[in-house]
Amino acid sequence: MVKWLGISLVLTVALFIQACAPKSQEDCGFVQNVYGERISWKSDVPVTMYLHESVPDSMIPAIRSAAATWARTAGRDIIKIVEHPREIGPLTPHKDGRNVIYFMNTWETNRASEQGRTSVYWIGDLIKEADIRLNGADFSFYWQSAGRLTTATKPDRTSAREVNIEALVLHEMGHVLGLKHKDNDGSVMATYLSSGDDRVNLAGTDSTSLQCEY
Ligand SMILES: [Zn+2]
Repeated sequence: MVKWLGISLVLTVALFIQACAPKSQEDCGFVQNVYGERISWKSDVPVTMYLHESVPDSMIPAIRSAAATWARTAGRDIIKIVEHPREIGPLTPHKDGRNVIYFMNTWETNRASEQGRTSVYWIGDLIKEADIRLNGADFSFYWQSAGRLTTATKPDRTSAREVNIEALVLHEMGHVLGLKHKDNDGSVMATYLSSGDDRVNLAGTDSTSLQCEY
């Protein structure tokens, strides 16, 4: 008797989940949840991002410029950079309810080709937090008019290829907003950013994606 009751409950739960699954959406360039819904901040913008104390002052204008590029396309502030006060504490990005940009001086050896990484935390179809890590261990960074800003911290990588910090941050901010990689149409969300590539403007496809959600 008890056994049959158990089975009956399982079936009920399974049917309930299926009945409640939201309708799948077009991806529109966004990461989707298991139900096929686009994951984004919805109306909860602008996203407030803090700068960890590890981020060199010299990078701030480039970061501000990348945020302004997304704002121009969105027609409003969409990522708000808080320059003061800086986020303090250990250089260990984690889920803490705050959106932070970190400039890392160490990086996993087996992921040394990564220039940066964005961690996005969401519930349902709503992003709750996003953190950006910039790989200062394996890459040197420059900004167009300012020249070289930093040199890779790993001794064997000090002659590493130089990366445009604004182009990289523009890409990582796309992930913050919920966008996934897109390897065509000149998108700033292309998986790879070549050394010396000053890709600091959004492509038409990036604007189209953004306007699906914001
Ligand atoms: Zn990426």
